[in-house]
Amino acid sequence: MSYDIDGDNGKISLRNYVFQRLLYFLCVKHVQHLFLNKNLVQALRTTKNHLAKLDYLGVKTIGDFLQFYPRTYLDRSVFNTVSNLMANEIATLKGTISSLTQSKSQFGKMLIQALFTDSTGSIEVIWFNQPYLLRMFRPGMEVILSGPVKYRMGRPNLVSPEFEFLRDEQVHTARIIPVYHETEGISSKWMREKIKPLLEYADYFQEYLPRQILESERLLPLNEAIKQIHFPENMESLRRARERLGFDELFIIQLLALIRKKKWHEGAENFYKKIEHESEVSDYFIRNLPFELTGAQKRSLFEILEDVKKPVPMLRLLQGDVGSGKTIVAAAALYSAVKAGYQGALMVPTEVLARQHFDNFKKLFEPHGIRVEILVGSLKEKEKRNVSENISLGLIDIIIGTHALIQEYIGFKNLGLAVIDEQHRFGVKQRDILKKHGFPHLLNMSATPIPRSLAMTLYGDQDLSLIDEMPPGRQKIMTRIVPDSKRRDAYGWIQEQIRQGRQVYVICPLIDESDFLEVKSAIQESEYLARDVFPEFKIGLMHGKLRPRDKEQVMKDFNEGNIQVLVSTSVVEVGIDVSNATIMMIEGAERFGLSQLHQFRGRVGRGQHQSYCFLFTKAYNQDSVMRLESLVKHHDGFKLAEIDLQIRGPGEIYGVRQSGIPDLKMASISDSGLMKRARTQAENILFTDPNFMQHPELLKKLEKYFMDEP
Ligand code: ADP
Ligand code: MG
Repeated sequence: MSYDIDGDNGKISLRNYVFQRLLYFLCVKHVQHLFLNKNLVQALRTTKNHLAKLDYLGVKTIGDFLQFYPRTYLDRSVFNTVSNLMANEIATLKGTISSLTQSKSQFGKMLIQALFTDSTGSIEVIWFNQPYLLRMFRPGMEVILSGPVKYRMGRPNLVSPEFEFLRDEQVHTARIIPVYHETEGISSKWMREKIKPLLEYADYFQEYLPRQILESERLLPLNEAIKQIHFPENMESLRRARERLGFDELFIIQLLALIRKKKWHEGAENFYKKIEHESEVSDYFIRNLPFELTGAQKRSLFEILEDVKKPVPMLRLLQGDVGSGKTIVAAAALYSAVKAGYQGALMVPTEVLARQHFDNFKKLFEPHGIRVEILVGSLKEKEKRNVSENISLGLIDIIIGTHALIQEYIGFKNLGLAVIDEQHRFGVKQRDILKKHGFPHLLNMSATPIPRSLAMTLYGDQDLSLIDEMPPGRQKIMTRIVPDSKRRDAYGWIQEQIRQGRQVYVICPLIDESDFLEVKSAIQESEYLARDVFPEFKIGLMHGKLRPRDKEQVMKDFNEGNIQVLVSTSVVEVGIDVSNATIMMIEGAERFGLSQLHQFRGRVGRGQHQSYCFLFTKAYNQDSVMRLESLVKHHDGFKLAEIDLQIRGPGEIYGVRQSGIPDLKMASISDSGLMKRARTQAENILFTDPNFMQHPELLKKLEKYFMDEP
């Protein structure tokens, strides 16, 4: 089906046109909606059990199902013959099956043996523990088998092959076969059976890429790409399907980034905040620090100071591992802003962090005669009013605070530079509110080191500065994986450390992103530890549902050493700084991404004592253990993010998921060629049709993302 209503070459008559228009309207606007959004129940005729599992995978409608793309493929399109088999190859054979027998192997497994014959000869086939095969196969039946060839006693065998009866169109053999991400109870085979008959629905997907892009980039139409991505005719059509769907992802991401960037600059013309002076100004500040900046810090600061001179508001991301020293770079930039006659603001996600920065900044800035204040939700009304008044009068130079900072009622006298710490905790919308405060320059900071290529893809709307070097003399944190069998020993050892005066963090497992369950598990864990494991010590509890005042108290107690063990959910991990805490215990470690585990680990190793990180895990499967082992081996956040990117994809990198960016299912971050094409086309279209008047379908697609934006 095609929805081409332009009437190529004017061949279509008016009546035809009206008719097609109607059809278009019916098909696209309604049928698409009806069909693609149709519940899977009728379409699949499957059990509730399977539906629940699909639901878990995020598949609720036919449209979702068709966009559940294969993970990889097996090429079973080329047939072998019995006479040409080689040991250990995966062979696909077409022929008949006969002489089925059942027996027991020497290890007590149930064995099914059969003889398979094609035009070139016969071979023995073996299956283990699949008695139902006896009922399925009748001697003489035509089948296609695909499986590994093993030699036994000098003769080739086909071991546990996948099989499929000959039918009009093969689904599991005799072609390039899709392999899906499996969960328990949903196999690739099941997926293939179910998706194949749904493929025709692909025609109800609405093409949203402009025609000229499809043509100049030689991309497959959307419906065709979706069909080919599941059941490709050949390797070339698979390549083209991947290209098309990958292009889409990158194109949308680039468009969103460019639109955001444009929006950021919109209306700023009359608000030129020029932060410029001789470099001696920031040099003076830096010379007064008790340490020398690292090369990466100097470079980043230079990039920032170059940027804030320009007549457009800066939008820059400063990335660096935990402890790489981002704060001081931001402080130097703020110092410059104040010396140029502006106010500065530092916004952080939690009150705990705000207070830490406040104490730190007071020490840094007061000797320079710069006035620093704090504004957080838990201040008394009167204090808040007082502070906000002083902000608007310009009596405060640098204000530190939480979200409270960007409330409507706050009016800056002359905000020149805003810094947002842990930017992924804030949404794009919150960032845009800043514009109301006179278009300040904006420096975002993120302690999630992600590879530059990924950062440029995901944060294409921001310029990037990387601190990829640690200050000298940082200790390595000894990291150990602790299986259940070693748990008791580990507890004993930790107890000894606490007796010697050290303190401990305990992070509770991530529970299906449910705050409620997570809090509950943290409460239980703290009770358990207090009762059964560390009865002689004080245990504290920290989670997102505590009142700010209580959080404050717990942090204070931990800081002052009144609490020895701090149990916490995974949501409050940022920015706590207690140098006497030297042990980080993480429960259910296999559930976290490497970069998030690395974040947790960064909480310790801040004092003069050797620090340790224990990864408690019940996972025995090879992959999980190997993943955790990379934490034992690597201490560089960029490296770990790279590994996460390879094993689990960009969505697993801590902080990326929350960033309101579409998932990358198909595109590869490393495909810089495709990336450039997408970027160029995105720039083109924004230039030629900035409001998408000519491209309503594309606009609709984009609007969805802007609506979902955090
Ligand atoms: P993060 O990047 O995680 O925000 P911080 O800015 O909090 O890191 O810095 C961590 C610690 O390192 C702070 O105590 C800071 O004073 C110190 N620090 C920062 N830069 C340097 C440096 N160049 N040399 C030595 N110590 C530094
Ligand atoms: Mg920090």
